[in-house]
Amino acid sequence: MNIHEYQARELFEKFGVATTKGGVAATPDEAVAVAEKLGTKEFVVKAQIHAGGRGKGTFKNGFKGGVQITDSIGKVRELATQMLGQVLVTHQTGPEGKQVNKVLIAEPATIARELYFAILLDRASGAPVVIASTEGGVDIESVAEHTPEKIFREPIHPTLGLQPFQTRKIARALGLSGAQINAAAKLFTNMFKLFLARDCSQIEVNPLVVTDKGEILALDAKFNFDDNALYRQPEIVALRDKSEEDPREVAASEYNLNYIGLDGNIACLVNGAGLAMATMDIIQYAGGKPANFLDVGGGASKDQVTAAFKIILSDPNVEGILVNIFGGIMDCNVIATGIVAAAKEVGLKIPLVVRLEGNNVEAGKKTLAESGLALISASDLADAAKKIVAEVKKAA
Ligand code: GDP
Ligand code: MN
Repeated sequence: MNIHEYQARELFEKFGVATTKGGVAATPDEAVAVAEKLGTKEFVVKAQIHAGGRGKGTFKNGFKGGVQITDSIGKVRELATQMLGQVLVTHQTGPEGKQVNKVLIAEPATIARELYFAILLDRASGAPVVIASTEGGVDIESVAEHTPEKIFREPIHPTLGLQPFQTRKIARALGLSGAQINAAAKLFTNMFKLFLARDCSQIEVNPLVVTDKGEILALDAKFNFDDNALYRQPEIVALRDKSEEDPREVAASEYNLNYIGLDGNIACLVNGAGLAMATMDIIQYAGGKPANFLDVGGGASKDQVTAAFKIILSDPNVEGILVNIFGGIMDCNVIATGIVAAAKEVGLKIPLVVRLEGNNVEAGKKTLAESGLALISASDLADAAKKIVAEVKKAA
C-alpha cells in the first residue's frame, strides 16, 4: 500500500523527522487558506498523486510541472486551479496519468544540496538496508546505472537496528560535517523508528536536502507498506486512497481475491497461486499475453467466483478468458456455477476456454454444458492455452 506525500509528512512530524511546514488542500480556496496560515514569503505547490517525477511531469491540459514555487498568494490560487482535477503524466504514471485531487502547499526550503536517502527491505539479506547518495533530486535508477560508485549501501542488523555509528557513517558518506552530522543522524534514527513501527517496506526521500542555513530536511517521501502487516496498522489503513489504485485490484481486494492486473489481452481465472503462475507462463508460451494474475483460492464461494469473473470482464483489454481449475479442495461445480451466473449477468461476448479437472468435475461440466454458454472445453493446460490464443486471434 502507498500513501500521499502530505500523509507521509504527517508521519514524519509524528516521528520527529525534519521537513518543511505545509498543509494540504482540495480546492483553490483551501490552498489560499493554507498559504495564508503559513504566512511565508514564498510557497511551493505540489500535486498529490501516488507517483514520483511530478516536478518534470506535464498535465494533460498542457500545463507543465506538478511542483511549482511562487511568491504570491494570488499565484498559489492560480496554481491550485491549474492542477486540481487535472491529470498529471509523469515517467512513473504511464501515459494515462493520474488525476490530482489534492495539492500540498509548503514553505519552500532554500536548497544548498540535494541528497538521496532510502530505507528498503533487502530481500537477499532478509533485513533492512539504507541506500544513500550525494546525487539527490534526480532519477536514482540512472545514478545507479551510470555512476554506481555514488550509491552508498549500509545494511541494518535485523534485531539490533540502525546503530548510532552507522548513522554517522551514512552522514559522512553524504559529505556532511560538523553539526549537520548530528542533525542527519537524528533524522535517520527517527526515520528507521518510523520504518519499523509502521511496518514499512520502503521509505524513499528524494531529495533529502541541506538548506542554506545547514538544516537537513526531508522534502519528498515515497512510502510502501507491507500489505501483510496492515491488519495491525489501522492508522495506515485509514490513509488508503482507493482512487489511486487499480480499480480492478480494489474490487478484487473487497472479495478477498488474489488479483494483479497486467496489460495483456487474455484473462485467466485459476485456483492456486502456483497454478495461476503456470497458466500465465503457458499463455505466453502459446503466443498470448496474460491480462492478469488471479488466484481464487482453494475454498472460493460462488459469489467470489462471480465477482472474479466480473472483474475480468470489466477490463477493456481482455479479448478472451481462460479458466483453469484443478479441483482439490475446490469443488469444480462451484466454479462452474459462478462462471455461469457471472457470464449471464454481464453478457459474455468474448471467447471462453475452460479446463476443469478434479473434485466434482462431472457436475461442473454438466452445469457448463446445460448453461447454453458458448464455451470451449480443453483437455489439459497446454490445450487450453493453445485454444484461447487461437480463438482470440480468430476474433481479431
Ligand atoms: P517529484 O518530482 O515527484 O520527485 O517531487 P519532489 O518533491 O522531489 O520535487 C521535485 C523537485 O522540486 C525537487 O527535486 C526539488 O528540486 C524541487 N523542490 C521541491 N520542494 C522544494 C522546496 O521546498 N524548495 C526548493 N527550492 N525546491 C523544491
Ligand atoms: Mn522526488
